[in-house]
Amino acid sequence: MTIIDSLGMLIARKWIAGENLEHALREAESYNSNKENVIMNYLGEDLRSRRAVEQNKEEILKLLESMHKRKIKGSIAVKPTQTGIAVSNRYFLKNYSEILEKASGYKITVWLDMEQYRYVDATINAYLKHCKRYRNTGICIQAKLKRSFGDVKRIAKQNGRVRLVKGAYKYPSTIAFGEKVEVYRNYLMCMDYLFAHSKDFMIATHDESIIKIAMEKERENNKRVLFGMLKGIRPSLASKLAWSGENMNIYMPYGEEWMKYSLRRLSEWEHAKIIIRSIIRD
Ligand SMILES: Cc1cc2nc3c(=O)[nH]c(=O)nc-3n(C[C@H](O)[C@H](O)[C@H](O)COP(=O)(O)OP(=O)(O)OC[C@H]3O[C@@H](n4cnc5c(N)ncnc54)[C@H](O)[C@@H]3O)c2cc1C
Repeated sequence: MTIIDSLGMLIARKWIAGENLEHALREAESYNSNKENVIMNYLGEDLRSRRAVEQNKEEILKLLESMHKRKIKGSIAVKPTQTGIAVSNRYFLKNYSEILEKASGYKITVWLDMEQYRYVDATINAYLKHCKRYRNTGICIQAKLKRSFGDVKRIAKQNGRVRLVKGAYKYPSTIAFGEKVEVYRNYLMCMDYLFAHSKDFMIATHDESIIKIAMEKERENNKRVLFGMLKGIRPSLASKLAWSGENMNIYMPYGEEWMKYSLRRLSEWEHAKIIIRSIIRD
């Protein structure tokens, strides 16, 4: 490892649970003992060879087995490009089914992450194709995209489970909202729809004003929803919500491929500032 790699890993440790499964499981146990559930994610994306996808799938299947054995409270998240979507859609569907089959035996939920725009249709189609047979699956929707309100409606109408986020990828203004306030508004519109029409969904954000509105809606609607945050971003708020009785889920990536994920986190300046502040303080 070079000095740059070591420095990078030191920073990345704020939002990565370690480079191997054992590190990740120990961290998951520690979250669980703090009343927080986990969303475990083996890092891998943009895979273009079957060999790499197979290796990722093996690790994901091992992860499911280990979570079951260690009685980890939580779910897993997989990326479509980690499970073969860039190789072929058929291959992706086969791998997604295989993971769902194993996870359903353990009663573990499998979330499909949402990646670049070019995969949105295929990801939603795969999800809708499987969500009737496998109740243990959910899908991420990015409020940043103009199409997302329609997608949320379509998924909710089919009793699907949405994990609502703002969206971490950069898009042109033809397909996405460019202003933060527009993304915020669309997030609230999707969230309102979910409160009215969905039994089970996740509000995945660190935005305190959205969380506050969601908690008010929980009271008004007499309904409990899931909350989600990324490891290392606003940990004290996550912990406070968990101890106040909210269902908090910490997205916890692990594995050797931490660089791309870390760059995406650092590209969100608000998060970068928090992380830099916490490194200086630690
Ligand atoms: C569980 C989970 C899963 C995700 N999965 C995906 C996925 O599959 N695909 C995808 O594209 N994206 C995903 N994301 C990332 C997401 O799209 C956003 O990029 C990321 O969550 C940042 O958006 P935000 O909603 O937290 O809002 P932001 O606007 O980034 O931040 C919220 C607000 O909170 C403030 N804030 C944050 N921390 C502090 C602090 N410590 N003190 C004071 N103010 C603070 C910020 O200033 C900001 O105004 C996921 C996020 C989560 C939480």
